[in-house]
Amino acid sequence: MTTPADKRGTVIVTGASRGIGAAIAERLAMDGYGVVVNYAADAGGAEAVANGIRSRGGRAMTVQADVAEPEQVTGMFERARQEMGPLTALVNNAGMLGEPARIADRGAQELQHLMMVNVVGAMLCAKHAVRAMSTAYGGNGGSIVNVASVAARTGGLPGSVPYAATKGALVTFTQGLSNEVAPEGIRVNSVSPGIIATDAIAAVPDAAQEAVARSPLGRMGRPDEVASTVSWLVSPAASFVTGSDVTVSGGR
Ligand code: NAP
Repeated sequence: MTTPADKRGTVIVTGASRGIGAAIAERLAMDGYGVVVNYAADAGGAEAVANGIRSRGGRAMTVQADVAEPEQVTGMFERARQEMGPLTALVNNAGMLGEPARIADRGAQELQHLMMVNVVGAMLCAKHAVRAMSTAYGGNGGSIVNVASVAARTGGLPGSVPYAATKGALVTFTQGLSNEVAPEGIRVNSVSPGIIATDAIAAVPDAAQEAVARSPLGRMGRPDEVASTVSWLVSPAASFVTGSDVTVSGGR
């Protein structure tokens, strides 16, 4: 199958070296975006994703940037603009679950790091995306999708309460930002996955299996099942959808 490269401009997908982010990058490339495959540490994984896109006729580049580091985020958007052209979409997917622990046993530094990666990182990327896409800054509009979680409303798996709180913040950020930038041609939505089979979930197998057992569809989701929802949210087919959180969880 060939990729209709660049019909839709350029998208940055954060945390795309594996898991849900990799599936989103691959899907959006098939949809016709030139894709910036962001990663923090796993250069080999990111290159494999980008090479896979190129081998199907798509356009992709990898950019190392820790989303919690403001200067690295600035550099990523600059490189994307120079090498891939005008930005038309951002998918804030990068995120971390952190080690399971009760709140009574957690330290300030790990909590701050979780907030920096999962919340402030997404906000920093959104800031640059708004500057690149907003009609108020001379852009042509665009779309932002934040990858939140059903944990935002369930409170999360046992031992993952701070993670759940970061996702709650992301859902609220989605709603507020969608109001702020709607007049400037930018739609902002979030997707809230349930248990999806990735490395992150493999690290908490017992808690994940218990959650799956309670789920109506009775199985884990696949990364591509999240990616297809993101594909719809960023696309013109969702042109009247903004400020929405779409649950992709197999029920509940
Ligand atoms: P994953 O397999 O652990 O992959 C995480 C990705 O994020 C990797 O590509 C990683 O890149 C990147 N990343 C981590 N910290 C980063 C940082 N500071 N800056 C840039 N990139 C960073 O996770 P996943 O399960 O695919 O999850 C992806 C997103 O979906 C996360 O936001 C997660 O919270 C959310 N989610 C997942 C599930 C699930 O069940 N899996 C459910 C709900 C929501 P490197 O390896 O290069 O560092």
